[in-house]
Amino acid sequence: MDDPNADTECAQNTSTLLLVERNGNSIASSTFNSLTAAAKIGGDVTALVAGEEPDTIASEISKITGISKVLVAKDKLYEHGLAEVYAPLLVAAQKKFNFTHLVAPHSAFGKNVMPRVAALLDVAQISDVTDIESPEIFVRPIYAGNAISKVKSNDPTKIITVRGTAFPPSTATGNNAAIEVAPDAEKPNITEWISEDLQKSDRPELGAATRVVSGGRALKNRENFDKLIYGLADALGAAVGGSRAAVDSGYCDNALQVGQTGKVVAPELYVAVGISGAIQHIAGMKDSKSIVAINTDPEAPIFQLADYGLVGDLFKAVPELTEKLKK
Ligand SMILES: Cc1cc2nc3c(=O)[nH]c(=O)nc-3n(C[C@H](O)[C@H](O)[C@H](O)COP(=O)(O)OP(=O)(O)OC[C@H]3O[C@@H](n4cnc5c(N)ncnc54)[C@H](O)[C@@H]3O)c2cc1C
Repeated sequence: MDDPNADTECAQNTSTLLLVERNGNSIASSTFNSLTAAAKIGGDVTALVAGEEPDTIASEISKITGISKVLVAKDKLYEHGLAEVYAPLLVAAQKKFNFTHLVAPHSAFGKNVMPRVAALLDVAQISDVTDIESPEIFVRPIYAGNAISKVKSNDPTKIITVRGTAFPPSTATGNNAAIEVAPDAEKPNITEWISEDLQKSDRPELGAATRVVSGGRALKNRENFDKLIYGLADALGAAVGGSRAAVDSGYCDNALQVGQTGKVVAPELYVAVGISGAIQHIAGMKDSKSIVAINTDPEAPIFQLADYGLVGDLFKAVPELTEKLKK
């Protein structure tokens, strides 16, 4: 599919289905970034909202500029984002309305649902899209962001997940799109939602935060991580992230991992504390506007990327910095 000389002619009659990601009873911010990508494809954008009580979210999304229509699927089975029931729902909508593009955020939810949809429609999945050149040509990073690939898809339906940090959110209101019931879809009972254990936090969400403080293996244990990284993050009003080494060592939760196999962030400020800067970590934070690194090793690769570097012991530097920021 990779073809750098691909022709960029626009497809006729483009129409996109945007899968709305929910955070309980609110629209996840990733949806608004995906809407910008969907709008860039061109043509009408129909939003699909599903859940046990989806009416409030359907009404909210219908007011967002750029949405032509909202499809609503109301069923308890859609409440918890199970890919096994969402995929047939998207396929049913595609079959009825003949969408040329199906778009979702490149989140855990979108990454789970969309490849199933692609398989059911027997077309390719195009993941982690960072730019749209035309309705057929998409830009996406490969090799942990070390190369950029231009992908041309000749499939009749393009299945796309969108990297949120690559597209600004579309949140303008004033629209009044029609809301209608989504087509009936098969609801396979091959999986069942049992329970979830969600961390409640007043901190900004990692993927959307404007400031992020991340800690690495050098923190040595969870107590140090909690005290130093959370302390500095509180002083900065920042979200907290971690390297995979910090996650694997149990210093912080898996949801906080930044990098190739974690979250991709692009805040105004990224502070890397005791993180070496392995390529897999850099893949998740290199688009941050200002990068600050604290590390004892002047040769640490993170310093090649950092705008501000402090060669020093984090156990001395972080408490001092936190105190100064508090003042
Ligand atoms: C397929 C694959 C996917 C991966 N995905 C990810 C990913 O998504 N995210 C990710 O982060 N990693 C990922 N990794 C792991 C990655 O390769 C690194 O192992 C990891 O990022 C290292 O974490 P770290 O920087 O915390 O630890 P280290 O590399 O051990 O670095 C610790 C750093 O702390 C410094 N230090 C030590 N003591 C102090 C002190 N007192 N004060 C200040 N600095 C100190 C050291 O100089 C060193 O630079 C992946 C690896 C693979 C193979």
